[in-house]
Formats: sequence, C-alpha cells, structure tokens
Amino acid sequence: NGNDDSNNNGSFLKIPKIKFTKLFINGEFVDSVSGKRFETVDPRTEEVITEIAEATKEDIDIAVKAARQAFDSGPWPRMPGAERAKIMLKWAELIEENIEEIAALDTIDGGKLYSWCKAVDVPEASNLLRYYAGAADKIHGEVFKTSRNLHLYSLMEPVGVVGHIIPWNFPTVMFFTKASPALAAGCTMLLKPAEDTPLSALFYAHLAKLAGIPDGVLNVVPGFGSTAGAAIASHMDVDAVSFTGSTETGRKVMMAATMSNLKPVSLELGGKSPVLIFDDADVDKAVDLALFGILHNKGEICVAFSRVYVQERIYDEFEKKVVEKAKTWVVGDPFDPKVQQGPQTSKAQFEKILSYIELGKKEGATLLTGGKRFGNKGYYIEPTIFSNVKEDMLISQDEIFGPVMVLSKFKSIGEGIEKANSSKYGLASGIVTKNMDIANTVSRSIRAGIVWINCFFAFDVDCPFGGYKMSGFGRDYGLEALHKYLQVKSVATPIYNSPW
Ligand code: NAD
Repeated sequence: NGNDDSNNNGSFLKIPKIKFTKLFINGEFVDSVSGKRFETVDPRTEEVITEIAEATKEDIDIAVKAARQAFDSGPWPRMPGAERAKIMLKWAELIEENIEEIAALDTIDGGKLYSWCKAVDVPEASNLLRYYAGAADKIHGEVFKTSRNLHLYSLMEPVGVVGHIIPWNFPTVMFFTKASPALAAGCTMLLKPAEDTPLSALFYAHLAKLAGIPDGVLNVVPGFGSTAGAAIASHMDVDAVSFTGSTETGRKVMMAATMSNLKPVSLELGGKSPVLIFDDADVDKAVDLALFGILHNKGEICVAFSRVYVQERIYDEFEKKVVEKAKTWVVGDPFDPKVQQGPQTSKAQFEKILSYIELGKKEGATLLTGGKRFGNKGYYIEPTIFSNVKEDMLISQDEIFGPVMVLSKFKSIGEGIEKANSSKYGLASGIVTKNMDIANTVSRSIRAGIVWINCFFAFDVDCPFGGYKMSGFGRDYGLEALHKYLQVKSVATPIYNSPW
C-alpha cells in the first residue's frame, strides 16, 4: 500500500519506495544486455528518482522472441476468451488494491495531480481491463450465405506480436488503452513506456505476473525512442504497431513500418483542439470550461482546448473573467489536494513551452497573464493566456502541450467553423452554446475525432477515440479498438450436394 511505503515529511512529499527498475521480459525482471541505465527525474524537485534499465535493440530482439514464442506456441492465444478474461479481471482487482502506490508513482514521475491519478487515471486502468475482458469471449467471425455451393465463413484471429509505443502524459491510461484490447484479442506484446515515465508501467508488469498473465505475453521495455522505439517499429517479427505520441514521431514510426515488414500501424497523434464559445453561453461556466480545457494536466493533453474562439458579443467579458480566474489558479506540489496544476513532466517540455511563450510575444500576440516559470525549483509554469492571436501565428498552429491558451474572436457561425478547422490537426473540439441548432450544425462541420458540447474530456471506455487529419488514424477505446489487434481470415469449403 502506497501510504505505508511513503515517507511523508510533513509537506506533501509522498515518495513511494521504487520496487521495479528492470526490464520485464518473458515474465522476469532483467537487466539490459548492455547494462545501460537511464535516470528518471521528479519534475517537482528536478532530482533523480532512480535509474531504470535501458532497453536497446538487443533487448527488443529478446523481448520480440519471447512474445513470438508466447504467440506461436503459448497458451494465451489458444485459451478460451473467458479464461483470458478471468486473468484480466484479476489484474484489474490487483490494480485497485494498489491504487495509492501506483497513483503516487505517476505523480512523482510525471508531475500529475495525485488526487486525479487516484480518482480517475488508475481506476480507468481497471475499467479498461474489465471492458475488454467482457469482449474477450465475444470475438467471432461471420458465416456468409453465398449464391455458390460453398460453406464460406470468416475467422477473427489475433494479429500476432504487437508493439505498443506510448507517451508520458498519461502513463497509466495509455498503458491500458493499448494492452487491454490487445490482450482480449489474444495477442502477445511489447510495451515501451516513454523514457520520462517508466515507473508505473513496471509496477503494472509485476501485477500482470501476479494475475497470471503467462510469461512472454506482456513485455515491458523502457528505453528511448530513437533506439528501443525505433527497433520495435522496424522489427521484422512485430506484426503490428500501435503508437501514441507526437505527429513527428508518428511519421517516423510509419516510415519504419513501411520500410521493414509493412506491419499495420495505428497512430494517435498530436492536436491543437479548438473550442468555440457562442454568444448565448453562460460566460462564467464557459470560463471554467476553457480553463479546465487548457490547464488540466498542465496542458499536457493531446485533446487540450488550446485554441479558444469566443463570439464577438461576449468576447470582452470572457477575456476579463478568464484572466481573473487564471490568476487564481493554484500551481504547486501535485500531492497537495488544493493544487490544480503541477509541474510539466520534463525539463525538455518545460523549456519547449517557455520558448513558445517567447515566440508568441515575438509574433505580436498580447500576453494577458502568466508567461513565466512559477517558483524557482521544479518545472512549474504559470497559467498563460495570449490574445490578439492570428491564425497563421505558430502559437496558433503548433501543439505547445503546456498551460498556454490562445484566445481570439469570431463573428458568425461560419467564421467560427472556418477558424476551428484551420489546423493541420483534427483530434478534438468543443462547442459552448445552449442552442441545439448551433450545436448540431457545428458538430457536423468540425473535422475532428470527438466533439464536446458544453463539456471537456468526457470519455467512456466504450467510446471510440482517435484523430482526423494529421492527428492520426485508427481508433482506441470501444469495440473499435479490438479491430487493430485482429485480422480476418476467410475460409471456404465446397458443398457438393447442397439441399438449398
Ligand atoms: P513522442 O512522439 O516524443 O514520444 C512518444 C513515444 O514514442 C515515446 O515512447 C518515445 O520514446 C517514442 N519514440 C520517440 N521517437 C521514436 C522513434 N523514432 N521511433 C519509435 N518510437 C519513438 O511524444 P511525447 O512527447 O512522448 O508525447 C506527447 C505527444 O503525444 C503530443 O504530441 C501529444 O499530443 C501526443 N499524444 C496523443 C494522444 C492521442 O491519443 N492522440 C494521447 C497522448 C499524447
């Protein structure tokens, strides 16, 4: 239990003892072949938490071999779906029993709010496992009634060895978004957590073993993108890759897949999601929604409302109120229950955001509030709002992935739609209005994978999620995600004396 292991020194420091720092391959925690290790840093203090074994190509080869063997001759793909489900349900239970310790790992590794991890992220891991456990015994093909004398049917088979490559902003949710449907489908897998947040992934590997996931089915291989990640994407014996991360890296993953064995790839990529706030909106509620939309998880959310468009009549009131409220936003130690925004995950991300803020000033946008580091230790950044932002400015086009709102005005519904769609991305979007007509028209006009009407970040496990345009393709969540991990085989037998 996380509380027992923590050393609470009177502030909000609750550092759990780190138990797992090695690669998890073929059911065992092992050192890397090279003996290399890398540091993982606490973004609250900028201090090293621990060193983690670093997977490189040799380790990926070993892990792929283990996953291949588990797929080709192990029990997992052959077991009845209901048996796989039992093990997945056990895993979900074990996660619940360790919720505080895991939540604390994501907080020290990624600067995420402890209360949110405990209430939402870690429970979502169990939700995902349970949802897909429920699907594991309902995967089946079809029988086709053809005009020929044929018994013709399809089988849904697991795709094989899957490589999952995930980012650092939601270490827990991303792990189970990928692993749960793949397990239900009967696949075996490698999962590479992001180099900034490997801690919870290794803990999950330990619980997977306790739950009874057979050796070789799940291999967790922390390491860097250009080495471990690239080795997975280009491996000739990995049958599919499911990637979540930046658009730039997604392109590299797809190229590597193309140039190796043409493995199918699904890409959940970046975003620059717009929210359109219409004149009839309740301004106070819209302010709260817009701030939650950009400041939640310190803006490190692929679906963040990073472009806020407010209709002319209420613009001035909105601008005044959103700035006032942003100034009261509580930044600080993510273990403190009063805090709303913790530190950015890494030094690199912290510096990238600050450089975009400088760029915004240079591009001629007006800095209304924030714009600097918060405090002098840890990767904290003040909630920042720019106004007078033009569509062609880089702060309006690029994904900043931090607590930086860009605010502008629109006149008509048509102009709002046009501005919302003026992005290479198409991941998420929002509409704030009481008018159903506007909500219905605009939601059909926006090119994005999800539209939130008067809400933000509203999901459920059965709702497919993914991008349009350069936000990627393929869908996570829902039954839709199972198809990434299945392939269809058609089988035909002649019927020589068909009575029909
Ligand atoms: P990133 O692309 O830098 O890294 C993602 C993962 O890819 C990491 O595990 C990294 O090690 C690995 N990687 C890096 N280079 C690689 C290579 N050449 N080959 C194979 N793997 C490689 O992204 P990030 O900075 O970790 O995460 C932030 C990005 O992720 C943002 O753009 C965000 O929008 C996106 N994201 C998207 C979703 C979504 O569902 N669409 C969800 C969360 C985050």
